[in-house]
Parts: sequence; C-alpha cells; structure tokens
Amino acid sequence: MRVRNKPWAKDFIKDHSEYIVDNPEQWKGKWSNRFNKKQPIHVEIGTGKGQFIVEMAREHPEINFLGIEIQETVIAIALKKVVASELPNLQMVHTDGAGIDTFFDEHEIDTIYLNFSDPWPKKRHAKRRLTSPKFLDSYKKVLKKDAPIVFKTDNRGLFEYSIITFNNYGMYFDLLSLDLHNSEYMEDNIETEYEHKFSAKGPIYKVIAYFNK
Ligand code: SAM
Repeated sequence: MRVRNKPWAKDFIKDHSEYIVDNPEQWKGKWSNRFNKKQPIHVEIGTGKGQFIVEMAREHPEINFLGIEIQETVIAIALKKVVASELPNLQMVHTDGAGIDTFFDEHEIDTIYLNFSDPWPKKRHAKRRLTSPKFLDSYKKVLKKDAPIVFKTDNRGLFEYSIITFNNYGMYFDLLSLDLHNSEYMEDNIETEYEHKFSAKGPIYKVIAYFNK
C-alpha cells in the first residue's frame, strides 16, 4: 500500500510525541516505561491505518500495544485514531520492522501480529516478506519463549510461503484456517482495514505459530 504524502503528517507526528516514537532504539528493554502500567506487550508490524491495533487496545486494557509502521503518512493517519482514542495502553512506532531486534530486548514481547503484510510476489524480493527466515530470526529473539506470531492475509501465495517458512523453521502451529470468516474462530476476530476490504472478495487465511511448544 503506497499512500500519497500528506503535508500535515510530519507536524502531526511531531506534535503528538506522547503517542509515537521515532527513535525506537532508545526504548530497548524499557518499552513498559512508555505506558502507565507494566503488562504484556503485543506488537503489530505493518499496522497501516491503525483500525486493528486501536480496537485491540480498546478491548484489551490488560495488554500494552505497539503499532509499527514504516510509512510516515500512513502512521500519521493511524496516529489520528490513536490520539482520538486517548488509550493509555497504545503507542505507535515509526520505523522499519526489519530492525525489530535492535529496538527490543531479548524476550521483551508477548505476541507479534502480522496483518495483510505486503506479499512481495517476485522471488527476488522474498527477503522483504515479513515472514521470511531473516524476519523469523529477529522475531525469535524478541518474543518470549512461549509467545505466538499471529498472521492473517488474503494472499494465498504469501500464506503458502509463510506456512512453509514457519514449518522449515521448526515452528509449531496452533490455529490454522483457510477461511477464517466462515470458521469458528471469528468470535473474537478484530478486522483490519484490508480485511474489511478483501473479505468480500475471497477467503481470509489465518495461522498462529510458535517457536516453542
Ligand atoms: N495491517 C494493515 C491492514 O491489514 O489493513 C495494513 C496492511 S498494508 C498491505 C501493509 C502495511 O505494512 C503498509 O502500511 C506498509 O507500509 C507496512 N509495512 C510493510 N513493510 C514494513 C516494514 N518492514 N516495517 C513496518 N511496516 C511495514
């Protein structure tokens, strides 16, 4: 998803530094200090316009949420929702998720969400996929031992690639759905912007995977 630059984005981000971080390395090992309460930390990488993370934070006050997004304009749009929500358990991080192990300590995170990640369909771009082995190396470092990666997508090719990659990595699967919206797992499902748009056009795939049993 490329979004045209919005001239207000930079200033809006600057004006709301209480909700957004753009120097994440400074918070390594100290992310709990960004929040009122010390509680589990859940991270979404590629959070887009923020619908999922805002709703999750509203429904789960017992968890601290961090939304990571690389595009300035996109995160500024998400930040508008975050500021309006005034939730004490939600923060945004403007950075590239590829550096996740440089700005989280080992085992600092309790869950990683990947929602409708860019598919990068060309083979030569495979290492940019958020479920590629290089990303898994970093996730393994920063996730707690028994913590999951929760992955949803409408893209069958990316889903197949991810399942194979997780499996080759020796990961364990919990939930695995090839049609989430017509499954028993919808009860606690929180939709993302992309999910809302694409669930009318075909199945949504979901997997929860762990590095350790
Ligand atoms: N998760 C949202 C949803 O489901 O509606 C947005 C999906 S959109 C297809 C993918 C988002 O991931 C884009 O906003 C993109 O900028 C972001 N993204 C892609 N690679 C990223 C990376 N390495 N680090 C952080 N964000 C990334």
